[in-house]
Amino acid sequence: MRLSLTEADEEFRATAREWLLANAPKDRAPPDGQASRDYALAWLARCHRDGWSGISWPTEYGGRGLSQERLLIWYEEYVRARAPSVLDCTFVALNHAGPTVFACGTEEQKAFHLPRILGGKVIWCQGFSEPGAGSDLAALSTSAVVDGDHLVVNGQKIWSSFADVADYQELLVRTLPGSKRHQGLSWVICDMKSKGITVRPIENMAGVTHFAEVFYDNVRIPLSNVVGGLHEGWKTAMTTFGFERKTAAIGLQLELSVKIEDLIALAEPLPGSATAVRLGELRAEVAGLRSMTYRALLREPANASDGSLVRLSFGELAQRVYRAAMDILGPDALLNGSWTHDYLESYSETIAGGTAEIQRNIIAERILGMPRIK
Ligand SMILES: Cc1cc2nc3c(=O)[nH]c(=O)nc-3n(C[C@H](O)[C@H](O)[C@H](O)COP(=O)(O)OP(=O)(O)OC[C@H]3O[C@@H](n4cnc5c(N)ncnc54)[C@H](O)[C@@H]3O)c2cc1C
Repeated sequence: MRLSLTEADEEFRATAREWLLANAPKDRAPPDGQASRDYALAWLARCHRDGWSGISWPTEYGGRGLSQERLLIWYEEYVRARAPSVLDCTFVALNHAGPTVFACGTEEQKAFHLPRILGGKVIWCQGFSEPGAGSDLAALSTSAVVDGDHLVVNGQKIWSSFADVADYQELLVRTLPGSKRHQGLSWVICDMKSKGITVRPIENMAGVTHFAEVFYDNVRIPLSNVVGGLHEGWKTAMTTFGFERKTAAIGLQLELSVKIEDLIALAEPLPGSATAVRLGELRAEVAGLRSMTYRALLREPANASDGSLVRLSFGELAQRVYRAAMDILGPDALLNGSWTHDYLESYSETIAGGTAEIQRNIIAERILGMPRIK
């Protein structure tokens, strides 16, 4: 699939390219902790200062209000310039918490939070998964009881990315005592500095503390922080997943097209060799994924199940690309850039945001119309 771009779009591309060339940091971002927060916020604030954050966000909340095509052009130029990975600690706020507040929040919530997100002032994390509720999110049990004009939260979340450096959390809790499954949940904005919150970081196999357990002990959250209505949280959470599984990963998917070209350049395969064939096939698959991503983003009306197709294809393809890098580069992978790190991290791409099996279930039921497994 090709974008049909106007002359004005190409001018936009040229301006973005020039700005990124002059401004994209050359040093590598710190992987985690306070240093990663400082780095990510400084970079986002710099983008914002020059009008390069919130490309497609509405202008009244600090965005540029531009088309999805321009957003894609920005991402193309962004990855081309090898600007900092989009999967840094601003990811949740920019890609699904902010968009959810925009789609479902009150005017006050939007006016307060959205400009702070785009201006690089705050980090958000997500508190959905629990030890007993991951794929089966509706089984969640963290409770929030109404007490006057507040909710009082007790329970535990797990795998909350960037929770150790976050200011706010998109938190899904059970607000209707005794309610079951999808009923009686609420999506609330939790101030991570609230009394009663304990964050315990978890180190992943790449040696990075990307996520954390979060414990809530009588944490008081104003009722005015509920987004999308009290007890209506499942609907709001599905809006979040809509963004998380579809638009959130565009930057990551486009990053893969740069990675495969880098790998081909490093590998220098002999024409016709098994390595050349393997890399050629991967390059073709990456191009296919890119087309799927563009179609998912530009399709009108939007198709909610596109997200699962793109998410699943990306996760499995990323693993094949980084596996090939390990096989082909061998020990050189340790010397050339971040291949080893990317390889280890790629295992999480078929888990985060819903596992590959769950995406397959969604595709089977909602796209192929197959019967639901009881
Ligand atoms: C890098 C990373 C970042 C993450 N960040 C966050 C975050 O910020 N916030 C957050 O809330 N969560 C986050 N998660 C958690 C993630 O959403 C869950 O790990 C995921 O939903 C799976 O849940 P689980 O780990 O409880 O596994 P389980 O649900 O226990 O699944 C275990 C296995 O069973 C399979 N399975 C389960 N149910 C079915 C079914 N119905 N059909 C077929 N197979 C099934 C799964 O596919 C999986 O292989 C993150 C995870 C990772 C890896």
